[in-house]
Amino acid sequence: MITGQTNVRSARFGAGAIDGIGKELGRFVVTTMEVPWRLAQRRLGAPPVAVIQVENMEIGTLDRQVAAAPECDTVLAIGGGQAIDLGKYLAWKRGLRLVTAPTILSVDAFVTPAAGIRRGHRVEYVGQTSPDPLVIDYDLIRTAPPELNVAGVGDLLSIHTACFDWEVAERAGKSEYPFHDEDVAKAREILSDTMAKAEAIRTCLDEGLLAIVEGYMRVNTICLPVGHCRVEEGSEHYLFYELEERLKRPFIHGWIVGLGVHLLSRLQENRHAEAVAFMDEVGLRYQPTGMEIRRDDLRDSLLNLRNYVSSRSDLWYTIINKCDLSPAWIESALATLKF
Ligand SMILES: [Zn+2]
Repeated sequence: MITGQTNVRSARFGAGAIDGIGKELGRFVVTTMEVPWRLAQRRLGAPPVAVIQVENMEIGTLDRQVAAAPECDTVLAIGGGQAIDLGKYLAWKRGLRLVTAPTILSVDAFVTPAAGIRRGHRVEYVGQTSPDPLVIDYDLIRTAPPELNVAGVGDLLSIHTACFDWEVAERAGKSEYPFHDEDVAKAREILSDTMAKAEAIRTCLDEGLLAIVEGYMRVNTICLPVGHCRVEEGSEHYLFYELEERLKRPFIHGWIVGLGVHLLSRLQENRHAEAVAFMDEVGLRYQPTGMEIRRDDLRDSLLNLRNYVSSRSDLWYTIINKCDLSPAWIESALATLKF
């Protein structure tokens, strides 16, 4: 049982939870991608007035899609992070009811209020939405490749490095927000509860999938009241921002965050081995080789990381500001990864 502000206006959890939902939504538009749509289409019980497929997340594309969408009452977002974010953006722009049905759990987009969009390959979070309901259909989610669902732990594992970063900022007198010990303790409890479910997550049992969704919702109860997410986002995400701008292509969110946790927990000297052991146990694919990240690119990204965060006034003070990412440190860290 989750108490507190979760951003989820109502929820429907269970195998088969999506069946027949189309009959309750009035005129509805679906935002999705090809594979999840093929899997979910027959189960809705009623057809949408339009199906809008994700093209890319650039703001210009999204605005064109919003302008072309027909009149409707509800947006039903079915798929992974991008399909959910497209649905959130459309629902927010048009002031429509939003229903989200994630088909993979690789990112926490389906429980966060803002839509992650791109402006010139830079991530921005815009708008304000709440799913009503959030539909968690375990059977539908299990149709996705297991490694994509396991990727969902990335945005919980980030608590490991993000809370440490916040403590670093607080000790340096650089925290952008009032520091709350209690919030850090609560976040760490979420992470330890998640880590205790490693086997169920690895095998995508109901219990493991639920642990990820509940973990995200519990993070919301910390982040939403204070209006920021320092307990869940820090240096591990900043490496991903740099890499995405550098390589100009998207990544499976939980995997790239996992790579960030690997490298930045090492820089933090923060129980690095324990974090890596958990990622290996649960089967999180954080290795550069699995994301086609070349060694040179990752080295250049790390060399540039401090400049990058300094150039962005919207990024918080983290270990990146405090510790030197020297060429020698970078070489030794890269030696522990697979390319
Ligand atoms: Zn994230």
